[in-house]
Amino acid sequence: FLSGKRALVTGSTSGIGLAIARALAAQGAHIVLNGFGEEDEIARIREELGGADYVNEDLTRTEGVEALMKGAGDVDILVNNAGMQHVERVEDFPPATWDRIIALNLSANFHTTRLAVPYMKKQGWGRIIATASAHSLVASPFKAAYVSAKHGVAGFTKTIALELASHGITANCISPGYVWTPLVENQIPDTMKSRNLTREQVVNDVLLSQQPTKKFVQPEEVAAMAVFLCRDEAQNINGANYAIDGGWTAQ
Ligand code: NAD
Repeated sequence: FLSGKRALVTGSTSGIGLAIARALAAQGAHIVLNGFGEEDEIARIREELGGADYVNEDLTRTEGVEALMKGAGDVDILVNNAGMQHVERVEDFPPATWDRIIALNLSANFHTTRLAVPYMKKQGWGRIIATASAHSLVASPFKAAYVSAKHGVAGFTKTIALELASHGITANCISPGYVWTPLVENQIPDTMKSRNLTREQVVNDVLLSQQPTKKFVQPEEVAAMAVFLCRDEAQNINGANYAIDGGWTAQ
């Protein structure tokens, strides 16, 4: 049902973004990929998705986001997904890391959106979807920048949802709990250090302790929600923040 639509998914060379790109492509959308990775692997993904475009830009820089939007062309669907994490006590949190996380996880959403909206308005149709996080709704210690950025994404999404509501454009957040991707795997060593725990304790007592289902969310489950938000039946879902967290934020 998405043939003829062009979808940009930021951070789509891995994890959740890649699953969203695959699911939108399966519905016929033409995909623009973005993110870092091995040249061969990216070429393989482009082919798998039926000849997807790929624009390699660093979205921690405003100029990088601007170059991405220029390279991507006019998009009907914008998925703001690229993100990074850093786990450290607030007094030791490196200021440059704070700046990078706010730039990528929050400010890049603003820059892609401001550049994508004029075309969507002209078309009278658009979908803006953010991969936020359970951390857009609740906090965990040692994640000051990530939690601040994700709460910001929730607020930004509500704001643009109101601004764009009368133009056939919706803006929503999807907020997963812990999804088994490199982003989660890579934070295990720092969490072991911050909390003085073993790897097994981090997985069972920190990560999955938050999720009453005791299961990691799968990237495909997040992707299925993104696809639904693109459907005509979802035209009145606007400014929402959908938790997919096994019940974490119900507690
Ligand atoms: P991931 O590390 O598997 O993928 C991140 C993607 O972003 C990759 O394609 C990477 O190349 C790209 N990226 C990283 N830095 C970039 C930069 N500076 N410029 C452009 N692209 C960049 O992570 P993931 O778990 O799939 O995370 C995707 C999104 O989902 C993030 O916003 C993350 O915060 C969010 N999220 C993840 C989880 C989880 O448990 N994994 C939970 C909730 C929310």
